[in-house]
Amino acid sequence: MLRRMSTFSGQKLATVVKELENFAPITLAEKWDNVGLLIEPHREKQVKKILLTNDLTEPVMSEALTKEVQLIISYHPPIFKPLTRVTQSHWKERVVAACLANDIALYSPHTAWDKACGGVNDWLSQAVDILSIRPLEPELGAPPGTGSGRYIDTKMELSQVLESLQKHIGNSVHVALAVDHNPKTLIQSVGICAGSGGSLLKGIKADLIITGEMSHHEVLEFTHNNTTVLLCNHSNSERGFLKQFSPKLSESLKGACEILVSETDKDPLVTVAKDLNKEQSAFADCYIVG
Ligand SMILES: [Zn+2]
Repeated sequence: MLRRMSTFSGQKLATVVKELENFAPITLAEKWDNVGLLIEPHREKQVKKILLTNDLTEPVMSEALTKEVQLIISYHPPIFKPLTRVTQSHWKERVVAACLANDIALYSPHTAWDKACGGVNDWLSQAVDILSIRPLEPELGAPPGTGSGRYIDTKMELSQVLESLQKHIGNSVHVALAVDHNPKTLIQSVGICAGSGGSLLKGIKADLIITGEMSHHEVLEFTHNNTTVLLCNHSNSERGFLKQFSPKLSESLKGACEILVSETDKDPLVTVAKDLNKEQSAFADCYIVG
């Protein structure tokens, strides 16, 4: 079998890391976070192929091995709590062992990408018609537009936002309707937080909240304060950014690296239709309005 030779000349790992940090310095990340270069190979290889993923699960690790990448950029850090051993007994340890054994580097940006101007929260915000936008918590000393969460002024009917959001994230959305809202309600302000928005969004005054996940009691607090909540499922509120970032990264590396977006990375939660026998595609595109 003939193997197609890579036409990408590649870049040094240090150059790729420098470009990633030019986009979002790791100093932007929250203090509790674990970001940056998490695994540096013992034998350095030229980085010709990079795999972007939201989560480095075992299926994504297999994909990285099959595609022979030299660097995985996993938005969520696969190493978060300190590892006390690297054995085959836990999936996270197996993922780390596979990277080490195959000289694959691992980089995680997490909250640095959340806060970055043009990062994950700005990507999620594009689901809404933006009249004006600002971070919920601006980052001191950073360029304007940098910080945690986003607050948007808009003018859309709730049903329009819902339709646009589903299209933007490519998935179903869970709706918790505010006590006085209906699908025709005019939405003029939106609070956004990719991932788990409960603590950042707490107490903000907006017609609508868009986030990945929230607890039952947090949702009730909002709906009773006349704020509708749209929940995308945690990683569905983040993952789409990778497709947008891929050409940007390629350009910053002067086209010397092939950038792949994982095909196996997905949210672990799937919405299933009530009657499994009725719908052949029960595990495909379900649309929940509750
Ligand atoms: Zn997250």
